[in-house]
Amino acid sequence: MFRVLVTDDVDQEGLALLAAEPLLQVDEVPTLPKDELLARIPDYDAIVGRSATRISAELLKAGTKLKVIGRAGVGVDNVAIDVATALGIAVINAPAGNTVAVAELFFGATIGLLRQLPRAQQVMENGRWDRNSFLGRELKGKTLGIVGLGRIGSEVATRAHAFGMTVVAYDPYIADERFTALRVRRAPSLDALLAETNVLTLHVPLTDETRGMIGKRELARLPNRSVVVNMARGGIVDEAALLAALQGDQLRGAVLDVYEAEPLAADSPLRSAPNLILLPHLGANTVEAQRNVSRDVCLAVRDALLRNDLSKSINVAGGAGEWGDLQPAMLVVRRAAAVARAVLADQGMRAVRRVALRVSPDLAHGTGALLAAAAAGVLEGVIETDRLNLINARSLAETRGLELSVGESHELGARTIEVALAGGMQQLAVTGTAPEGGTPRLTQIGSFHIDVNPRQTLLILTNHDVPGVIGRVGTLLGEQHVNIAEYHQARLAQGGDALAAVSVDGEVSEVTRKALLELPDVLTASVVQFRDE
Ligand code: NAD
Repeated sequence: MFRVLVTDDVDQEGLALLAAEPLLQVDEVPTLPKDELLARIPDYDAIVGRSATRISAELLKAGTKLKVIGRAGVGVDNVAIDVATALGIAVINAPAGNTVAVAELFFGATIGLLRQLPRAQQVMENGRWDRNSFLGRELKGKTLGIVGLGRIGSEVATRAHAFGMTVVAYDPYIADERFTALRVRRAPSLDALLAETNVLTLHVPLTDETRGMIGKRELARLPNRSVVVNMARGGIVDEAALLAALQGDQLRGAVLDVYEAEPLAADSPLRSAPNLILLPHLGANTVEAQRNVSRDVCLAVRDALLRNDLSKSINVAGGAGEWGDLQPAMLVVRRAAAVARAVLADQGMRAVRRVALRVSPDLAHGTGALLAAAAAGVLEGVIETDRLNLINARSLAETRGLELSVGESHELGARTIEVALAGGMQQLAVTGTAPEGGTPRLTQIGSFHIDVNPRQTLLILTNHDVPGVIGRVGTLLGEQHVNIAEYHQARLAQGGDALAAVSVDGEVSEVTRKALLELPDVLTASVVQFRDE
């Protein structure tokens, strides 16, 4: 049973999805004061909220059972993500549900600006009738310059065609095919975009690259009497520069939905700027968007808790979107790494320094997730943390000075991964395969070809290739009540060294391992107990 705390008035439709799960107990509370939340958090496996609740480092540390943070919305500025990552807590948001809400608001507000609707309304409220002061402008025939052709930028572009606008965008991270599919012309640079834009709209995240992206210099590059709209994040458009451009009549007008500091100060000079429509961060504020983000985040939190599916978590190593078909491959990598570490440890290697993956081309899209799995495999059983998982494995490995690398190899068969561990003079590679729809198998340990399903406990023995060893090992395990599931014996040359990979049910005790080492011709015995994922 997992307990989920829901706060900040998250839409009921998503909560109903959580409540319908017998293994989830959902407690809904209003936005709680900090201390009250701190006192309650240790009981919960997950917390779902909007932006009102701050998920601070202190709260995350107090939430000793926390596995998932769900944010019904896009922005996660209220979550201490680095701390969550270090603690192995998944952070999940709902980035797509409010796309249409923002795109529609863009047109509503821009047309409102061009037709001076807020001022016309004021005139009417004041009991007057004035048509002459309100000569507006149309969108048709104007050039819309979009910065950031992601989810929202794309929806804006699609709708702009219906208004008969020419659509140009600047987004160096989006492929030409996407531009073509959206019928959007690519601007080679931001400056080139600005030079031909009548209506400029920003749909980029706030990053080091985009902070202050539209300042005095950029505004000056826009044709005279252009319009600027920022519904992305405060700080992307320099507020002081925008104010000056409006006051200097250089711009026709602007719309802001987001601000450098929110809420906007009551005495902000923006409030009295000419031809500026100010909105209190309304982009995602529609019934439909709130329902969508609530559904999206609750489904993702449910899947994270009940199915260990972290594909929607934004702090999972490698990023979201890589996980779909990768679960079996991740399992094989994690287990191959655990086997390699255990065998090397029995050969006296204390610290693994390097983990190098080679993956077949059909798995190349999942390298981030596969590296996380390899790091988890190396660390399990080595470090004492019950919070080791695929979210924090890479960061934990890197803080321990482990070098992780990955490359693609055309020599490997389909859906195959080689995990090579090295430290000091020793090195060992273990290979595994995760066939689509089939059982994951380990196929090679060092030079020995094997074929075994890595489940529960794997025993790896090296021995002299002489008659009788398999029988003696089988007898001893039987006497110790250890049931053998699979026994795979491999050798390089007759009479040389041999390796056995023995998959057994349950555990193999240290007493049994030592007894195996006492058998004639057995050279090494390693036991790898796989952790349940
Ligand atoms: P997205 O991630 O789908 O798209 C962002 C796009 O920006 C990507 O295509 C990316 O390639 C591009 N980009 C990143 N850096 C860039 C750069 N330096 N130059 C040019 N392009 C760059 O995001 P989205 O869902 O479309 O959201 C866009 C913005 O809208 C975000 O800042 C988001 O926080 C904001 N937003 C605001 C509201 C609101 O209430 N006003 C609601 C939802 C989203």
